[in-house]
Amino acid sequence: MFEPVSRRRDPEFPARSTIDEFATDFGGLRHAVPRTVHRMPSAFPSALLGSGRPMTLRGAGHSCDGQTVTDGELLVTYAPDTTAAQIRELHDGLIEVPAGISWYGLERYLNRHGRAVPVLTDYLHASVGGTLSVGGIGINSVRYGMQVDHVERIQLIDGTGTSRWCSRTDHSELFRFALGGLGTVGLIERVVLRTVPYCRDTHVHRRYHATPTELVEHTEQIAQRDDADIYCASMRRGKIFSTTGWRGNGSRRCGDENCAIVPDLPFESHPDTARPVAPSNGHVRLWTDYIVPAGQFAPMLAAVETLRHRAPLNGVLTMLYILIVRRPPDTTSFAFTPVGNAPISIGVGVYTSVHRDLTATTATRRVFRDLLERCCELGGRPYLYGVNNLDRALAERLYGNNLDQLAQLRAAYRLENINAHLPLVRAALPT
Ligand SMILES: Cc1cc2nc3c(=O)[nH]c(=O)nc-3n(C[C@H](O)[C@H](O)[C@H](O)COP(=O)(O)OP(=O)(O)OC[C@H]3O[C@@H](n4cnc5c(N)ncnc54)[C@H](O)[C@@H]3O)c2cc1C
Repeated sequence: MFEPVSRRRDPEFPARSTIDEFATDFGGLRHAVPRTVHRMPSAFPSALLGSGRPMTLRGAGHSCDGQTVTDGELLVTYAPDTTAAQIRELHDGLIEVPAGISWYGLERYLNRHGRAVPVLTDYLHASVGGTLSVGGIGINSVRYGMQVDHVERIQLIDGTGTSRWCSRTDHSELFRFALGGLGTVGLIERVVLRTVPYCRDTHVHRRYHATPTELVEHTEQIAQRDDADIYCASMRRGKIFSTTGWRGNGSRRCGDENCAIVPDLPFESHPDTARPVAPSNGHVRLWTDYIVPAGQFAPMLAAVETLRHRAPLNGVLTMLYILIVRRPPDTTSFAFTPVGNAPISIGVGVYTSVHRDLTATTATRRVFRDLLERCCELGGRPYLYGVNNLDRALAERLYGNNLDQLAQLRAAYRLENINAHLPLVRAALPT
């Protein structure tokens, strides 16, 4: 049978904790029960942000390193059931949506109207606002870049409760820092997104690779060509395979057993609802992704390969997942997105399932830190939804002046109490 193109069927695929929806983040790494939970749309976000009280912002809570965990006040935007009615169709394929809608609900809606989201991530029950606050990369990124590359404007609420529309031309600094910025410059309330025509079928071609070197060569080749519409690869349980695809059902490229025409690929084996499945007993999922400019995939993968056969990674690694990201021509230089200014990049996701004890998690985090150093040396960036030990020195090397600008924006817009626990925010504090 034709295997899935994504990591969704992985038995280690993480899901929300059944213990207490608000007690832990998706990785299960940090625990804290919030004192107060405010849920949108019933909560009035301007009043909450303008109150000056410490506040943590959360979408669906799928980030992996305590980004949305607090024992204080939590503002939850994720409202997949109530927000579809708030979609507004604009002109020229633009669509305005509340940040709390799920990608699943949005894509279903768009497909019914002959449109589609250009880039979808692997898991569709995250919130639009939460994913845009980290970047958004998927199998279509080889054609369309990051999800944030397709945002026309966002409605952002600052720490005084003031709401304003930000775009590449209006409040452009806020726009540049909000998308991929982990909620550090305010709450994204509504979003105007570009869409593309809906195409039901995808021609999917699957290929096995004998060695990591072969995978590297193949991936770099695909990155340099511009004819693929989808690409991903994975290394799991000793097997290495890649998937390349083209929109439409043209039989031209078909012809061997590794080809298939897949209808509605984003929904293939995707649950209709976000099922609560507990993480494996006594384990936490520590995930991280490193995105390096094309041409640097070999040394990045070599660094991972060297470490993955040694303790502690050899016992905990579940999968490596590889994506190509080709930025569109009108690209914005976002401050903290996983892809910086490189036109074409390659991401390596390193996914582990670790015993829930301090020694084991600390050891894995230490390895991640070494990999992050290597990623930085290669001109890459980490994906901030994951587990990344950021301190001031490393953050400066990764983000340069953006750190000081973040501190200035947070002061100017009275955001000191919003998501103040994040390592990125701490790294940006004046020394
Ligand atoms: C199973 C799984 C599969 C994944 N697959 C992919 C993938 O293929 N590609 C990919 O790119 N990513 C992937 N991710 C990562 C995922 O995109 C991020 O975890 C994303 O943040 C999820 O959205 P969320 O609604 O859960 O955000 P949350 O985790 O709730 O929030 C993320 C960050 O954004 C902030 N935030 C949330 N909502 C808002 C808002 N409205 N305004 C301002 N700030 C806000 C939060 O404070 C937090 O810092 C995956 C994650 C999981 C768990």
